[in-house]
Amino acid sequence: MNFNELGLSPELLQAITDTGYTTPTPIQEQAIPVVTQGRDVLGCAQTGTGKTASFALPMIDKLAAGRARARMPRSLILEPTRELATQVEASFERYGKHHRLSTALLIGGESFGDQERKLDRGVDVLIATPGRLLDLFERGKILLSDVRILVIDEADRMLDMGFIPDVERIVGFLPRTRQTLFFSATMPPEIRRLADAFLKDPVGISVAPPASPAALVEQSLIVVAPEDKRDTLRHLIASEDVKNALIFCNRKRDVDILQRSLSRHGLDAAALHGDMPQPKRTETLERFKNNEIRLLVASDVAARGLDIQGLSHVFCFDVPYHAEDYVHRIGRTGRAGRQGRSFMLASPEDGKNVAAIERLIGRAIPPFAIDGIAAAALDAEASDGRRSRRGEHRGAERRHERSPRNAEQRDRRPRRDNRPPRQEPRHEPGQQPHNETHDAEVLTFPGPAGAPVAEPRRRPPREPAPDHRSEPRVVGFGDDLPAFLRRAPRVAAEA
Ligand code: AMP
Repeated sequence: MNFNELGLSPELLQAITDTGYTTPTPIQEQAIPVVTQGRDVLGCAQTGTGKTASFALPMIDKLAAGRARARMPRSLILEPTRELATQVEASFERYGKHHRLSTALLIGGESFGDQERKLDRGVDVLIATPGRLLDLFERGKILLSDVRILVIDEADRMLDMGFIPDVERIVGFLPRTRQTLFFSATMPPEIRRLADAFLKDPVGISVAPPASPAALVEQSLIVVAPEDKRDTLRHLIASEDVKNALIFCNRKRDVDILQRSLSRHGLDAAALHGDMPQPKRTETLERFKNNEIRLLVASDVAARGLDIQGLSHVFCFDVPYHAEDYVHRIGRTGRAGRQGRSFMLASPEDGKNVAAIERLIGRAIPPFAIDGIAAAALDAEASDGRRSRRGEHRGAERRHERSPRNAEQRDRRPRRDNRPPRQEPRHEPGQQPHNETHDAEVLTFPGPAGAPVAEPRRRPPREPAPDHRSEPRVVGFGDDLPAFLRRAPRVAAEA
């Protein structure tokens, strides 16, 4: 099939040609005509399938006629993370370059003033993370009664990050007569329930995951003593043909420490994690994407879903505690038909975690030896004793994806209604957030045959465990203290 068989306008076809796309992807083939007809869509698709264009292209044509009024956006796209929201906005800019639609991005960590000014000028396409959108709504800066098209993207990731109550509130402010496009990589019961509530007579579209990253990523495992890890990493960077690389650490503090270590050794490295101020995150990512930085040391949350073209290497400096994170990490390379290379650095005590990863991907990761660095052996019985503390930190970072909004909430006007404070993410700190087990790229690997997908245990949110709070202050927090550390006073003030 060709793009010009999909009923798109000549301006859009020109933009598609300019972008370099020649053939629509399966989700584009199926979704574009349905969206153009005005039908609701329930799309089971993940990043990497061309999902963004499948809703963005027909939306641009549909919105071409008409103008937005001040503070009354005509369409709304909800994204779980700022990085994804930014990517989607960039797609709209690219595909809509021959149209005159105005877009606005409402994400936490950016100035309210600029976002409010944009809203005042009238916005055709509003792309937002739920928290910042609600903040502006509650400040009376935005009216949602003109939204005719709603996109809920990455719904299962929203669930993972605890955003569903916010999404439900937002949908409650929208007109009932609207077109809703709902995308999720997986459809667990909670997501189905939402889809049933939000959609009217939807067309269900389900597409296969993109080519397995496993097929395109050459993976290696290196087992060394913990004190040899940095040496090993530097050796690999020097000996491999590293054009650009993402280097994953399990903890934000280790991201900073490793980045400084690499820089001290004269390597061009930057850090990316959820405690960094948003402008710095955006700038760092932009520089990395533009090849101005060669090495990006990152945490899992900050680098999720990132679409970085032509990434040559992924290094797992730590063995992830959650096997699915491994799949997610290495899936950052080997994209769009290109070859990629991944190395995981393990210490002997990572034995159980490495075994879990190999079980998940259904194969052993080939070992790799480096001359001059003593190879160690995995201890099959060992599981890193810091697991739970690290897990909690990881959970904390997930919450912190919302934290700039929470920080902003402290300053904002009192609530107009008497509703209770917004819920914190519902997964337990350190607990496996359930959508990751279903995450897009996970599905590309042969899992244990017929393995049932466990439903997450849900418990009420609780304060971080004491050992987490007693962690030494991490250099790099600066004034950007994670919101969860301040949560108790805020809740008390609101009560
Ligand atoms: P998405 O699933 O929307 O995150 O898109 C994944 C990647 O596929 C992005 O880099 C898009 O630019 C690219 N892409 C989307 N549609 C096409 C297409 N029809 N042909 C080639 N690349 C595409």
